[in-house]
Amino acid sequence: MLFYRHNMQLDDSLRKLAEESGADFFGVADLSLARDFIISQGGLEIGGYPRAVSIGIALLNPIVDQLPNRAETAAAIEYRHHAYDVINERLDSIASRLSSVLQKENYRAYPVPAAKRIDDERICAIFSHKLAAHLAGLGWIGKSCLLITPDAGPRVRWATVLTDAPLKPTGQPMQERCGDCRECVQVCPVGAITGRPFREDEPREARYDARKCESYHKGLERKLGVGVCGMCLYVCPHGRHREQQPNSPKLL
Ligand code: SF4
Ligand code: SF4
Repeated sequence: MLFYRHNMQLDDSLRKLAEESGADFFGVADLSLARDFIISQGGLEIGGYPRAVSIGIALLNPIVDQLPNRAETAAAIEYRHHAYDVINERLDSIASRLSSVLQKENYRAYPVPAAKRIDDERICAIFSHKLAAHLAGLGWIGKSCLLITPDAGPRVRWATVLTDAPLKPTGQPMQERCGDCRECVQVCPVGAITGRPFREDEPREARYDARKCESYHKGLERKLGVGVCGMCLYVCPHGRHREQQPNSPKLL
């Protein structure tokens, strides 16, 4: 059964469904801008999709604000539960619903699972959710290698639907706005962030040492049974400024 008669209607319907399902961010990316990188990361099958629908859910500030206490088991368990498990499930559900709508329209749609952990995503994902959000114009890649949004900083988790539907891209990659800030560099307990600004022609290793980050997580896990860090996410001023704003702006 076909519910959507032309593309703009499909774009609008996807956005509306995402919003009604609880997404705080929605965008469409033209993946041709990063085709070679996507193929090198995920292979030809993943690299064959021309568009991506990017959806994001803002993390709950009181949960993120517990991160300085991450060496206490209760805080680490709560963060793991609410910042990963619950939000990932919500994202996967929205991505699945959007994919079904696209399939009903006879388009291919592949929901890329929300990453289980920030370090999982950085080390072994088949597709970068942050890349899709960046190409959709939803934020910039910060010195922390996280996707920084103007409204919620890096305090957002992402999922992606890859598709061949001719959706209209929602924006261009955003210029970085880190400026002279080095807060994520200074707060990292293992010096995993070098402080170099993002450049498309440089490998990620120039900015970020994923192994150092991973081994820090594993050390906490051995000690507490659960290993979370995220201090680079916690400290970013583009997310922290919202702590002072009880009526935060509508993000979609
Ligand atoms: S998650 Fe922690 S260890 Fe990893 S880069 Fe961020 S601050 Fe450093
Ligand atoms: S903490 Fe500062 S340098 Fe790091 S990503 Fe945020 S704005 Fe950029």
